[in-house]
Amino acid sequence: MRKKINRQWSKGLLFLQCLQDVLLNRHMACPSCGGQGGATVDRRFLLFSLVRCPQCKLMSRRPFDPLERSVHFYQSLYHEPAVTILPSDAELESFKQANFRTYNSFEAWLRLFAQLEVPRDGVIVDFGCNWGYGSWQFRQAGYQVRSIELSQPRAAFAREKLGLTVYSGVDQLPPGEQVDVFFSTHVLEHVASLQGLLEQACQRLKPGGLFFAMTPNGSDAFRRVDEAWWHLLWGRKHCNYLDDVFWRQQFAAWPLLLLSRSIKDYQLRLPAGVQVSPALLDERPMFDMAGHELIVLARKPR
Ligand SMILES: [Zn+2]
Repeated sequence: MRKKINRQWSKGLLFLQCLQDVLLNRHMACPSCGGQGGATVDRRFLLFSLVRCPQCKLMSRRPFDPLERSVHFYQSLYHEPAVTILPSDAELESFKQANFRTYNSFEAWLRLFAQLEVPRDGVIVDFGCNWGYGSWQFRQAGYQVRSIELSQPRAAFAREKLGLTVYSGVDQLPPGEQVDVFFSTHVLEHVASLQGLLEQACQRLKPGGLFFAMTPNGSDAFRRVDEAWWHLLWGRKHCNYLDDVFWRQQFAAWPLLLLSRSIKDYQLRLPAGVQVSPALLDERPMFDMAGHELIVLARKPR
């Protein structure tokens, strides 16, 4: 009860800070590249605007949270039952018995990496690994995994219950190590300073290495088919709204594949008959973007 009251009180304070920002016109530039101005794409809760940066093309919430506010939010206020509740020992055992086919299965991503010829003993960075369910599956499949998680309780769970090595940031990874895949699902929409992270990720990749990210889909194609749902997927928690426009500029010089997934059936929206292969990325295709989740795959030039 006390915890709940504290959380409500802190949320109220956050709201007042945002109100102050709006009145003083603070924290209104692009949180990623610092770009000024830009077009307002949507609004929420009277205070928040979603603005497209004219420089880096990222859509992000204004006012944005300065870093210390963002860290405070994620360490003490962030609560999302599907994400922040840890499984019991019995639940964990049953997930492991089923090789996680019954909970957050990574089979689709493992298949994708095989099709893209990622070496089976390659190094994968699982950025924002939560309590480790994905890292565990990567390790079971033979990959070497470097897990990264900011949340201390979830990182501790991954270490203690799954025996994973968990780092607190990309800069904490083994010095100089180059990796085959930089992987994240449902993390980048929360990151306060995206540009810095993407630069670190790209530096860490080997030539020919893959960048993979799945996020809520900010693309216009999804907005056109379901405006109400599209509108709900950015806001207090999701400060960045990634879309095809941003990724195409971000990876302008890299082989690239953009696709989406519907959370109604979790199927990748690929045209019938299209097989994923390394050569496919060279054509920089963008398939049906009308799904709820956006997937970007980019390959670092050799
Ligand atoms: Zn920007």
